[in-house]
Amino acid sequence: MQARFHPIWVQLPAKLQDALLPYAGNNDFPAMLTAEQAESIKNSCGFDDNTLAVALLPLAAACSLTPISHFNVGAIARGESGNLYFGANMEFAGVPLQQTIHAEQCAITHAWLLGEKKLASVTVNYSPCGHCRQFMNELNSGAQLEIHLPKQVHSTLGHYLPDSFGPNDLGIKTLLMDPVNHGYKLETTDKLVLTALDAANQSYAPYSNSYSGTALLGKDGKIYPGRYAENAAFNPSLPPLQAALILMNISGGDCLAIDRAVLVEGKHCDLSQRSATQSILAALGCSKFDYYTF
Ligand SMILES: [Zn+2]
Repeated sequence: MQARFHPIWVQLPAKLQDALLPYAGNNDFPAMLTAEQAESIKNSCGFDDNTLAVALLPLAAACSLTPISHFNVGAIARGESGNLYFGANMEFAGVPLQQTIHAEQCAITHAWLLGEKKLASVTVNYSPCGHCRQFMNELNSGAQLEIHLPKQVHSTLGHYLPDSFGPNDLGIKTLLMDPVNHGYKLETTDKLVLTALDAANQSYAPYSNSYSGTALLGKDGKIYPGRYAENAAFNPSLPPLQAALILMNISGGDCLAIDRAVLVEGKHCDLSQRSATQSILAALGCSKFDYYTF
């Protein structure tokens, strides 16, 4: 079992420990459960979907990186496939707070990067902040997305974000998590560059059309893609580097052990991720940064 789960494991109910051990007990546990695995755990423990998601929150929160707040938040995104994706808040020392990732953003991006096409619910151990409510308002689940909190009657995003402003107000029809391929190409055989290009092609930028993607090569030899996720309110947009860092951290990688990073974006776009990406990478101790445009 990964060390980050050790302190919290003993606090889980014994029957949940038994049911989870075949999955979470492995060192390569990717902080997600397939629908089949979730079904098996629910049957063993007598849980429904929501009880299981709430019970998993302490494990999700154990994935937090909080050098500044030391305040750990966990989230579980349940896809329409039935898969469960862990999320946790992530902070980065040495860069502005605006670069912080919230647990809900983490769980949602985790699901999106692993190919989930729509979410049924998001469960979180603290009430979602305004930033996250707005971020979730961009999803193709719409106002019907279920929000679950421990010890509270579940409700929908529409309840948590009344009188919302979002993509529908701007005539956007293809929403966050809808599968897309923008079709950009680069002449290269470099696997990291091609991974970043693929991420850019699947990125979501309906307001600026400034599509971008990153790929990180960890010192563990694993590659982590990250797609840009734009927002109607602009500020809650999630940069592509953050998306890649989400996948790296949540799947057990070390964000302070990046061997090489690539950013791919459009050449003549209204905005660029280049300087922000480079400065965050520098704060994370990564100096091997390659930049490509299409
Ligand atoms: Zn938040």
